[in-house]
Amino acid sequence: MIHGSTELVAIIGSPIAQVKSPENFNAWFAENGQDRAMIAVDMAEQDLATFIQALRGWKNLRGCVVTVPYKQVLAGQLDQLSPRAAALGSVNVIRREANGRLLGDNVDGEGFLKAARAHGFHPEGCRALVVGSGGVGAAIAYSLCEGGVRQLVIADLDQPRAQALAESLSRAFPQVQIGNQYESLGDFDLVANATPVGMGGTGEMPLPGVLLETLSPTALVADVVTSPVVTPFLELARSLGCRIQTGPEMARAQMGNLGAHMGVMPQDA
Ligand code: NAD
Repeated sequence: MIHGSTELVAIIGSPIAQVKSPENFNAWFAENGQDRAMIAVDMAEQDLATFIQALRGWKNLRGCVVTVPYKQVLAGQLDQLSPRAAALGSVNVIRREANGRLLGDNVDGEGFLKAARAHGFHPEGCRALVVGSGGVGAAIAYSLCEGGVRQLVIADLDQPRAQALAESLSRAFPQVQIGNQYESLGDFDLVANATPVGMGGTGEMPLPGVLLETLSPTALVADVVTSPVVTPFLELARSLGCRIQTGPEMARAQMGNLGAHMGVMPQDA
């Protein structure tokens, strides 16, 4: 129950009814005896600047998770960004300091990698393919480079977008071989779908069937799509003997990172 004394955090996006963070955060707060609660905020884009201004003076609100479609636009309205949020030009979490300063970070990639490590994937020296170079794909690609992959391939239907991401990551991580070309999936230790393909039971695949047949059974195959939990892409990978990582696993893995940035949870929650 929310009391007058309850410390709040929020999640902002539009639409917002589909997000799972409020139930995950509120269950954790209740299980851990915390007088804290998460509220969901569906805000119109034209009122974001007013919301950010209100956040600065909102004394019983510790921070805000940011979801689609505001990750990029809000990155431009905060007082300080973490190096990775600045490099990505997007935030998925904001901390409100006691003096009203707003600090942004992006932990999408860290959540992905935390879930992957739990499946036994360790990025150091590995080869990885990320399909999708939008907000989430860029965050995953950044974290894989930070984590020490040897080679990273970034694919996207929007080739200039994938190329621009490969170029900017190459400048930030010159020790990693980063490109956009590949002919087979056979040598990849990790293949990740970071596109919305497969969402909502359409049955679509993010890669052509002939390529999918080349997946190595030793690879970890991951999807960011949260519904269905096991996408057709993951079903196929599992049938080929691969380990699979679902979108909800990534979302659950980053809860501690989001909560820790807002100062309401330990990182490993
Ligand atoms: P986005 O629109 O910024 O990027 C998607 C990219 O995928 C685009 O660049 C697009 O060109 C590319 N793409 C689409 N179809 C493709 C195909 N068939 N082959 C290659 N590239 C293709 O979207 P986003 O913000 O990066 O979100 C992507 C997905 O991630 C969404 O479904 C979102 O719900 C999900 N997501 C999951 C989590 C989680 O924790 N599991 C967190 C955030 C977002």
